Amino acid sequence: MIAAIGTAAINAISNADMVNPPKPVFAGTLARGLRDCVRRLTAILDIQPNRAARDNHVSLEFRHIAHAYGEVAALRDVSFTAPASEITCLLGSSGCGKSTLLNLAAGLLPVQQGSVHVAGELIAQAGMNPPPEDRAVGLVFQDGALFPHMNVAANIAFGMPAVDPGEIENWLDRVGLSGLGHRYPHELSGGQQQRAALARAMAPRPEVLLMDEPFASVDSVLRRRLRRDCRMLLRAAGTTTVLVTHDPEEALDIGDKIAVMEEGRIVQFAAPQDLHDNPAAASVGAIFGGAQVVRAVREGDDLRTAFGLWPIECVTGVMPDSADLDLLISAERVELTIDSQGLAVRDVHPMGPASRVLLEAGDSQEITAVTEQAVNPSACYRPVPEQGSARAFART
Ligand code: ADP
Ligand code: MG
Repeated sequence: MIAAIGTAAINAISNADMVNPPKPVFAGTLARGLRDCVRRLTAILDIQPNRAARDNHVSLEFRHIAHAYGEVAALRDVSFTAPASEITCLLGSSGCGKSTLLNLAAGLLPVQQGSVHVAGELIAQAGMNPPPEDRAVGLVFQDGALFPHMNVAANIAFGMPAVDPGEIENWLDRVGLSGLGHRYPHELSGGQQQRAALARAMAPRPEVLLMDEPFASVDSVLRRRLRRDCRMLLRAAGTTTVLVTHDPEEALDIGDKIAVMEEGRIVQFAAPQDLHDNPAAASVGAIFGGAQVVRAVREGDDLRTAFGLWPIECVTGVMPDSADLDLLISAERVELTIDSQGLAVRDVHPMGPASRVLLEAGDSQEITAVTEQAVNPSACYRPVPEQGSARAFART
């Protein structure tokens, strides 16, 4: 049954391809694209329903995952558990290893080091890499990857164990596409295509759904609505979800837990509120608290920064046992004193009663202050954080 679905997908695409044969010069590229498409689609659709596990709701766990592309280390000792029935966001900038981790769980990449577990059961490790179709894992990509020659209803039906028109209607309704089942993907907007892709991935009721930047190609207003709808659908179904995003607002908006990634590592894994209140690193505080990070070296009772010497009293809480520090500083709590030896003003931007002032140090490092005081753009200023306003982290 599982193999039959995969073969059908391949045949369907091949037939469509034969109706409009490609020009020979593009054949290689198209064939590669087609293979990639088939691989992705079979990964999305060949989902083996496992009712017993589904009813229990399952966790997805990564244990000590490391991955390299030749010399490039993409992941370094990544461990965390995406809890059952929750939405876990993998948040990090481009190139930090998010897609690599997702593809290892999906079976699109072989695990080199470490292991992946669903409901506590080992599903992949080095030397044991079952193909995507043998994992109860669904996938949604940024571009949806719908079958172009099938209408929406057929796309949704494709992964279902048995075609059930009533259930297809239900899915169209759930994702806000009622009455559009007869449309082809090219007759839908980008947002509608993503909704259809979501319905198709969820229709087989996968235990785990992996979503790689699923809303990135949708405009920002629609994106917000789509992700809220998506969140409600996933919560209602109790689907364990790992969603990749580079957008902190998106992670806060949809995630029950957020794994913050930097350069192939998880810097912090926590609920959004914890990340905001207790960041494990200055960079996490900067993402969620809207603050800025300033490097400092402790010299006795002073902190040497690119912006001058600051008294140690500007730091609140525990001072780390390290001379090399990252200070997390809120722009609203940076005081400016006029000083001919100070920093040049790069920009003053009025924002109602306060202005946002950008100051530049000699080596082009910048610090932002938000202040209600009048600022002379041609004067120089010394910025110092208010007493007890900065948080210090050991620099890693
Ligand atoms: P993200 O999804 O967070 O943007 P990726 O997981 O795609 O990051 O990539 C992580 C790192 O691995 C990046 O440095 C990227 O350039 C590299 N990388 C990804 N895929 C390949 C590949 N097929 N070959 C070589 N390097 C790759
Ligand atoms: Mg990616």
